[in-house]
Amino acid sequence: MPPEPSMRPTELGTQLRATWETQARDGFLLTDPNAMQIPTRETEDERSGVAFRFRWMPHREIRGNVAELEARGILNPKRDTEKLFSDPRDPFGRHCFLCRDNIAECHPMEILLPLTLAGEEYFAGANFAWIEPGHFTVMSAEHRDQVYTRHLLEAMLDLHVRTAGQFRVIFNGRGAGATIPWHLHMQITEVQMPIETLRAGAEEHYPTAVCRFRLAEDGLDRADQTIDQWLNSDQSHRSINLLVASPNGETEIFFFPRDRRLATAEGKGLVGGFEVAGDFVLSAPHEEDTYRNASVATAAEILRQISPPDWGTVAAA
Ligand SMILES: [Zn+2]
Repeated sequence: MPPEPSMRPTELGTQLRATWETQARDGFLLTDPNAMQIPTRETEDERSGVAFRFRWMPHREIRGNVAELEARGILNPKRDTEKLFSDPRDPFGRHCFLCRDNIAECHPMEILLPLTLAGEEYFAGANFAWIEPGHFTVMSAEHRDQVYTRHLLEAMLDLHVRTAGQFRVIFNGRGAGATIPWHLHMQITEVQMPIETLRAGAEEHYPTAVCRFRLAEDGLDRADQTIDQWLNSDQSHRSINLLVASPNGETEIFFFPRDRRLATAEGKGLVGGFEVAGDFVLSAPHEEDTYRNASVATAAEILRQISPPDWGTVAAA
């Protein structure tokens, strides 16, 4: 069992922060997070105690603009596509965005920080299409599937605790966000997630299904068993989002059961780990109205659309 996080900055937290600052200075991030004011609207839900956050980030759309990425050197214009590994299951024949050798060929500016998490090798790389300051993708050194295991939960806790809670850790299962199903990865952010202020006992007032486990009281077993039970009850459709954070200095696992058939919501598109935690990232032209009209009802409606209707029967079993 990892220890409870203290509030002192740690070596790993300091390394990640320094890497982020370097990548911002290098011009690897789509916009400089230190120079940018992100239009943000917050709207508090009195029943749950959560202040939903809506952010308008049209700059993220550059992530799909190959010419612009090449012009900035974020994407190597001279990359040798023959060298790139593609998972044979990828329906579009794309190369794997998370394999180390592919990253070195495509994104020579990207710094990959090696990490050992729960005994296995990972790399942390700053997300150039960042959602929040301190937003990294953490990927396994090995190319292996994005599936939940107990090891994954241990790795998430290890990373969180070793940064003393500075970095929150998010996992999107297959079909539960813009995820790459062929390569194991998580995301980390330094920014507090809105759901961290969810009042104890107010889970039923949150607009989508959520279970929370306190590490000190429940340990890892109860969370692992509950997640397993959900996934195994219908392997072809069920998925998850996970968040590890330490509201009030106490480490918690937030588990969001998901159904792959309910991957998107009107006015938002794909709903992933940031959104289920109350943080709505809007960047596409068709999402601008959602930002302009954002309210508690908007958040509730988006989350209601992706809440699995049969969660109650599995939870009660
Ligand atoms: Zn890969």
